Amino acid sequence: MAYKYIDNYREQGARKKLVEELRKKGIEDERVLLAIGKVPRHFFFDETFWNQAYKDIAFPIGEDQTISQPYTVAYQSQLLHINLGDKVLEIGTGSGYQACILVELGAKVYTIERQEKLYERTSKVLPYMGYKPKFFLGDGSRGIAKHAPYDKIIVTAGAPTVPDELLKQLKVGGILVIPVGDQQSQKMVTVLKVGENDYEKIVLDTFRFVPLVGDKAW
Ligand code: SAM
Repeated sequence: MAYKYIDNYREQGARKKLVEELRKKGIEDERVLLAIGKVPRHFFFDETFWNQAYKDIAFPIGEDQTISQPYTVAYQSQLLHINLGDKVLEIGTGSGYQACILVELGAKVYTIERQEKLYERTSKVLPYMGYKPKFFLGDGSRGIAKHAPYDKIIVTAGAPTVPDELLKQLKVGGILVIPVGDQQSQKMVTVLKVGENDYEKIVLDTFRFVPLVGDKAW
């Protein structure tokens, strides 16, 4: 499989252009832009579709799922305000691209996926690329209590409500970023845990994610 993992000047140039496009669209966090500039997004695509890898679009990855649009990945990453060494739970590993961005930002990443094929693929491909988050298979709508508490939690699928379990698994001072709405569109919501039972919620822009499917979800 080694032939697939070639990052030449063409891909590097396309990645630089993508970074500039995201900057123009309003992404301001230079560390996030740097991470987008580093992670070879074409590695998550079949070689036939490499010409699509640096367009600012979501793309099918099999199992009826998508690799998120780069703008969305940058937007959510920016909202997390990652500090070096932050323990971050990602719900919805998908292609693994978002997890790589979080690793580049210096986070210790725990990522959970409910689809076995995607879990198997990412837990092989990401370490091969040099990214080593901890992978879990299962329903992440309940979080992963065993490894809680987390500094940050990111949900990359659309939820009907904010699951209580996720709020419980956040440290005080921690941030949850989650798209909440119906199955057609969701508002990005950030929740800051200001005290043991005290939260500040901010509702932001509209997005369209695949549904979060599970016990505390659809
Ligand atoms: N973060 C991903 C990436 O970088 O490619 C994009 C994720 S994709 C938009 C959403 C993912 O969430 C899908 O792979 C889907 O199978 C997964 N998912 C949905 N419900 C889930 C749940 N309850 N627990 C874990 N994963 C879930």
